Amino acid sequence: MSTYEEARATILSKVAPIGVERVPLMDAVGRILAADFTAPWDIPAWDNSAMDGFAVRAEECAPGTTLKVTSFLPAGVTPGAPLENGCAARIMTGAPIPPGADSVVPHEETHSGEGVVTLLRGCVKGANVRVRGEDVAAGSNAITAGTVIGPPQVSLLASFSAAMVPVYRRPRVAIISTGDELVELGTQPAYGQIINSNILAVAAAVRLCGAEPLLLGIARDTMESHLDLLAEGLKADVLITSAGVSAGDRDLVRSALKKLGVVEEIWKVGVKPGGPMAFGTKEAVPVFSLPGNPVATMITFEEFVRPALLKMLGHGKPFRRRVKGFLSEPVRMKPGTLHFLRVAVTVENGRYLATTAGSQKSGTIKTMLRCNALALLPAERTDFTAGEEVDLHLLDNSLDMES
Ligand code: AMP
Ligand code: MG
Repeated sequence: MSTYEEARATILSKVAPIGVERVPLMDAVGRILAADFTAPWDIPAWDNSAMDGFAVRAEECAPGTTLKVTSFLPAGVTPGAPLENGCAARIMTGAPIPPGADSVVPHEETHSGEGVVTLLRGCVKGANVRVRGEDVAAGSNAITAGTVIGPPQVSLLASFSAAMVPVYRRPRVAIISTGDELVELGTQPAYGQIINSNILAVAAAVRLCGAEPLLLGIARDTMESHLDLLAEGLKADVLITSAGVSAGDRDLVRSALKKLGVVEEIWKVGVKPGGPMAFGTKEAVPVFSLPGNPVATMITFEEFVRPALLKMLGHGKPFRRRVKGFLSEPVRMKPGTLHFLRVAVTVENGRYLATTAGSQKSGTIKTMLRCNALALLPAERTDFTAGEEVDLHLLDNSLDMES
């Protein structure tokens, strides 16, 4: 039996990114940059105007000065001759500053006449000029490998004309359910049967990680059926199984995996829900054998599989945000295992307040619907008081949204 920390550390030590591919910029959205991006040129590439106004020499700009307007510079033009003394150039936002000019006086601070402009106020040297390289300097590391590519990264990469982007490959994650009681989605379960919901819940979670789920179906409770399907699953980058991993007569997953050459690294973790889970590897393929109980399946995925998939996807930060919060009510737990208390977190006076999201029985799926965080209650303790500080893992739906 491993502790929670040991299990997480072992699992993460056994997984690594599976490779890099170059994809069109828009296909890189939501994926992880696989190499530091070094700026190939300066941005801005030349000094340019931050305002619509007049490019001037600041030293000639005492309040009330009238300058001759000798050129017009909209964005996109190349300035020709240098600005002569006593002159100003009409300039638009984004246009290059002409040689000789050092500042821009905004339109609002001028009075225009026939071929001339009068400055209502003075001008500080460098005012309203965006200096070459002030945003991103050529040769600097503009985006670090391991960064998720979102709109700001797309904006920057596009600014450098990066049409193809190196990203980590998305692992193909084979998912197999086990059990004679299972029937597939779309059928009406007979007495004693249940729908194979786990394969879909796991697939949903895999997809939200950014990996690619491969639904391989149901292994029946015979060794032959297990061997067939698990062998197929081991051809993927990751294999996840559901159920059949306890010590029951029909729990065949561990022995079947062993026959197929999977080296078991972990069996049983001191957590609840989710204790009877296993983890092993076959060469580079990590194999997660999750418990069948749907809540335990989801929680073990959340705590053990998700960080591993994110690491394989190249994320620099594979863990959920861990924050301190406070229990709103007393909670009693059995001793001996770390408990993941399913809680609904709200923000009260700037503090995270955690209230149990419903029945904590490990079979209660409904509690998962109200749960937006897991409170980690340490194994050594049984009684937790209202107002007590606890560690919380905030889940995807923790952000309070306005309706
Ligand atoms: P087992 O580990 O095979 O004893 O299964 C534990 C519990 O999980 C049983 O109540 C199963 O019916 C349930 N279960 C197993 N597989 C699935 C599945 N694919 N979808 C939903 N529930 C499942
Ligand atoms: Mg079973």
